[in-house]
Amino acid sequence: MFRDEKVALIPVGSTEQHGPHLPLGTDFFTAQALAESVARKTGAICTPAIPVGVSSHHKQFWGTLWVSPQTFRQYMYEIGTSLGYHGVRRMIYVNGHGGNFPSLQEISRALRLEGLHALVFQWWTDPAAAELEKSLFKGKGTHAGGVETSMVLAIRPELVDTSSYEEAAKGASATFGITKFGAQLPVDTLDFSQSGATLDPREATVEAGKQLFQAAEESLLNLTRWLEKAKDDELEPKPHKD
Ligand SMILES: [Zn+2]
Repeated sequence: MFRDEKVALIPVGSTEQHGPHLPLGTDFFTAQALAESVARKTGAICTPAIPVGVSSHHKQFWGTLWVSPQTFRQYMYEIGTSLGYHGVRRMIYVNGHGGNFPSLQEISRALRLEGLHALVFQWWTDPAAAELEKSLFKGKGTHAGGVETSMVLAIRPELVDTSSYEEAAKGASATFGITKFGAQLPVDTLDFSQSGATLDPREATVEAGKQLFQAAEESLLNLTRWLEKAKDDELEPKPHKD
């Protein structure tokens, strides 16, 4: 029951192009599947998934929706404070979209000043999933390539258009973004990828997706249990030094 639970999982993603072969909802579908599965196993609360995030860099592709980082931060912060009002003072933003990360990290710090403890979990930066990725795929996984396509094949296979793999691969970039002399240029996806994808979705398999999902799920499960049991003084800011 809501009033008895200590930890909430907040799935958050985006509605954005993922090449011609993956659904616009890819990032919140993956976040939601992980959060719901861990909530079922731990008893933690799972809030509704937040489907729109910081995605203006995909704007030239049909169907992409976005909000500004300011709007996103405010909205996600207030979801945190409303959970706090119900006495749920510990939460995990289960993030499915890289563009949301700086904002989520920022509000987690701001929430801590209010006595609320928020963490950010992302399946593709989870060390266990990242390690597995190295052994399963030739290319390092980023946007709409073999890795992400495998994840969607594992959770929503009916939404993957395998007949568009070729088209996705043909216009794909080798990396996500453009770097010059160590500086990341503030470019849009269309500046470096014609299909909207990075790397090759033809590497994707259901089996690889299931393994990745399981690895990330186990990490999120352990994180949730840790957060549930952590002592307050492990989470709270230290008092000022003498
Ligand atoms: Zn994605």
